[in-house]
Amino acid sequence: MTVTTTAAKLYNCDETRWQAVRDRDARADGHFCYAVTTTGVCNRPSCTVKLALRENVRFFPTPEEARAKGYRPCRRCSPDGSDRRTAAAEAVVRVCRILDEALLPPGLDELARRVGYSRFHFHRLFKSFTGITPHAYLAATRARRVREALSLSGTIADAMYSSGFNSGGHFYAAAPEILGMTPRAYRAGGDGTDIRYTVTSSSLGPVLVATTDRGVCGVLMGDDGSALPEQLHTVFRRARLVPADDDFAAAVTAAVREAEPPPLSRELPLRIRRSALAVRIRRTVPTAVAPSG
Ligand SMILES: [Zn+2]
Repeated sequence: MTVTTTAAKLYNCDETRWQAVRDRDARADGHFCYAVTTTGVCNRPSCTVKLALRENVRFFPTPEEARAKGYRPCRRCSPDGSDRRTAAAEAVVRVCRILDEALLPPGLDELARRVGYSRFHFHRLFKSFTGITPHAYLAATRARRVREALSLSGTIADAMYSSGFNSGGHFYAAAPEILGMTPRAYRAGGDGTDIRYTVTSSSLGPVLVATTDRGVCGVLMGDDGSALPEQLHTVFRRARLVPADDDFAAAVTAAVREAEPPPLSRELPLRIRRSALAVRIRRTVPTAVAPSG
């Protein structure tokens, strides 16, 4: 095939191979692999492992040839197994990292291209692993930044700009859904707000769900369920925290069960799985369980 021939030509010199490794370019996968003399490990070009020093890198046309020289295949990217599922999970993780770190991340076309998929294919892949869309993941990242910035008692404008919102209109429209209260009340530790909460279990550990009469104001996850109410209190130190009655607890437990992500997502780091689950919980917790006032 023409494409294969072109790619093979492209990666037949060490300079373009190194460039592909530096870019972690998934399009180069299968055309060559690289071994690192200091670790004894052989990787796909797109492997997300920390970039080795150029002087310690050796290129091989195939993983078998690297193995013959004593290099073992990387367990993260498995260059010798055609483990496409692992590679797909890695692509999802890589995009999550980009979305976590960049204030104004590239669009989906560009993100998909960077990890070697078409926009359509990657969108489907991301959803199948996380249960949410890349856009929803980005929105959740922004929301987390807003909450963190407001908790640090910066100004509301600072919180808005430092989390990637570029217009006050967008920000105030999104605020009830992100914060469950006004930005001003959130910044003031939930001053004057009644918050109802309960702790239930999920496949990813204990989860605390807290609501106001405006919506969900907190979804906290951790390994120790008994520590979660204290965390809630730290964020909303001036709110009135009301433990749930049985109806509320039952409704939240049902909502969390409904929000459970697809079982395939085990290949992703726990942190990303918890973020995705939190997004889904925020959607499934019915507003009817919020206190009436
Ligand atoms: Zn690797």
